[in-house]
Formats: sequence, C-alpha cells, structure tokens
Amino acid sequence: MIQSHKRRVRHLPADIEQAIGSAIAQAQSILCVSHVAPDGDAIGSLLGMGWILRSLGKNPILALADAPSTDFDYIPGFAGIVGASSVGDDYDLIICLDASSPDRMGAVYRPAAHDRIPLLVIDHHITNTQFGAINWVAPDCAAVCQMLVYLAEALNVPLSGNLAVALLTGLITDTLGFRTSNTDAHVLQAAIRLTEGGARIQEIVARTLQSRTYAGLRLWGASLNGAMLENRVIWAKISLVQRAQAGARNEDGDGLAGLLLSAKEADISATFTERINRAGEVVVECSFRAKPDFDVSQVALAYGGGGHPPAAGCTLNGPLDKVAADVAAALQDARQTQAQPIGQKFSSTLTAGNSTHG
Ligand code: 5GP
Ligand code: MN
Repeated sequence: MIQSHKRRVRHLPADIEQAIGSAIAQAQSILCVSHVAPDGDAIGSLLGMGWILRSLGKNPILALADAPSTDFDYIPGFAGIVGASSVGDDYDLIICLDASSPDRMGAVYRPAAHDRIPLLVIDHHITNTQFGAINWVAPDCAAVCQMLVYLAEALNVPLSGNLAVALLTGLITDTLGFRTSNTDAHVLQAAIRLTEGGARIQEIVARTLQSRTYAGLRLWGASLNGAMLENRVIWAKISLVQRAQAGARNEDGDGLAGLLLSAKEADISATFTERINRAGEVVVECSFRAKPDFDVSQVALAYGGGGHPPAAGCTLNGPLDKVAADVAAALQDARQTQAQPIGQKFSSTLTAGNSTHG
C-alpha cells in the first residue's frame, strides 16, 4: 500500500527530497513562515507544515506578519500562530511557504538575525526568486498545500486528521473550489487523498469560498458600481471611504477580481484596493486574474509584485485613481500582445470542423 502511494509521488525531485529530508532531520526548533496578507494557501500550508513537523517529533513555531482572518479558525492549530513580535533569533531551520520573494515574509524575517539560519523555500509561484538555501519551487502545482501532500507522503506522515483539513483548505481556496485553469488530475488526486484522510470538501467550501459578511457584499456592490471595461480588461476600485461606509473588515473586499473575471466581455480582471500600510502611507493592493491563455504574472512582476499566469498581484504607492489608471492601461497593453481573442479561436476551430454549417 505504501509502495503504491510512493509511486504516485510527483513534483518532488529526488535531490530536493533528499535535501529537505536531511534539513528537517538535523533540525529541532523550526520557524515556519508564510506571506503577508495571508490567504487560505498561506494559512493552510503553514498549519499543515506544523502538523507534519510535529508528527516527526519536531518543535515548529508558526509565524505570520499579518494576523490571519478568523475565517480560518476552524483549521486545527490556528490559535497557535504567532505574530512577528514573538519571533526570536535562534532556530535550527526556517521554512518559508507560498512566498515568491523574501519581502513577502514581512516583519517575521529579520535578515540581521536570521540570514545565518538555513532557509528552506517551498513555493509554487513561477515568479519565485529562489532566495533559499534549498528551493523547491513547483509552478505546476496549484497550491503549496498540494506540494505538502507530496512532502508528507515522502516523509511517511499520514495524510489524515488535522493535517488533511489544513492542506485541503489551501487546495480549495487557491483553485477557487477546483475551478481554476491549473486544476488538473494531480490536484484532484491530492484532494481525493485528503478527503480519504477525513477532510470534507463541503465544510471547507462553506467556511471559505461560500462565506461573506453582509458588509463585504455591500462593499462589493459599491465597488462594482464603478467597474470599468476597456479592451477586454475589466477593473474596479475599493477605496478606504467605501470600506468605512460599508463597515467592512480589512479582508472583506477579497475575491472581487475573481467575480469580475466572469464578465463575458473580459479576458483579464483587476481590483485596486486602497489600504494604509504599517508606515501610515496609502498603498494600493493590485489583484489580477486572467482567463485561460492569458497571463497576468508578468505585469505583476514588472510592477515589483509576482504571482501565477492566471492570478497575480503587486502593491504600489497611491493615489488610488492614478495607480488604477496606469495599471489598467498596462493590463490592456499586455492583453493586446497575448493570445488572439477567444471568439476568433473558437470560430476558426468551428469552421475547420463544421464545414457544412452555413
Ligand atoms: P491575490 O490577488 O489573491 O492577492 O494574489 C494573487 C497572487 O498574486 C498570489 O499568488 C499572490 O502570492 C500574488 N501576489 C499578490 N500580491 C502580491 C504582491 O504584492 N507581491 C507579490 N510578490 N505577489 C503578490
Ligand atoms: Mn498559494
């Protein structure tokens, strides 16, 4: 049985498996960190890594620079996540999850104290800068939680109980419920193994994708009222004033770019969310989504951000209106240079295959 599971391990090259195995074997106290503004894959992979390490007899410390949304408090271990101020200087190993560059760890990672500690990077962003001593970067995985399914199997850690709930959360949220273009048979196989281990898809979907506050819905409404569509790019802004008027929480506008992308008239969507950063400056979080055959990761990278071809983002200094206008123009330029309109592709396929139709 174990043999057949072993044969199904994917995305974990032998040299990386060996390097990760020995890095973990040599460490006892291990700092695990994921990215600022943590999403379901960040929180799920952080908590999942915690459960993997505990089952190997290790002592993990799980840290996030930004407090995770209580929407994820159903994942076992959630209450044990600490903030940057609780992070010390001395660990045997640091494991960085779902972050494409070191700045994404925020205040948790202090180079002066931490850069002498071995850093293991586990990520699935095509834009990853390979900043670790060991880098396992798998852009063909839909979530870091999918990568941790393969890691747990390689380390003979059972994919059940707490671990299964944590990992299935990241799989479900990063694929928007198995609907993104990178949802392939391997993603579904990973999900099957986690559901066999006791995690329940419908419960996690109900807690995450299908769970919004009334204030959040009203904020979406206010933002959608001002949505713009030009050259098959659709975008909307979420201002601080709109958020305050709706009485919405910090995370309540999230997900709007995905909704905008459902527009038949668009191939690329974007939201521009105004926020105050730690330094008290107005910044604009830009969130991009693209339909299959289109790529928003390169625009994000050009603006100092990162991500995947279908979902990427960056954070820019305000003001909101100028950022939205400039970046929406850049997205339209990128759209023009990418694939031909889907309508043309379909019609040429149909013409070739249906010559008798008039
Ligand atoms: P979201 O739009 O859900 O915030 O992010 C979509 C993708 O883009 C995620 O994979 C996320 O890691 C990446 N991303 C979003 N914002 C930033 C950013 O400011 N910097 C970088 N490097 N990546 C980002
Ligand atoms: Mn992710």
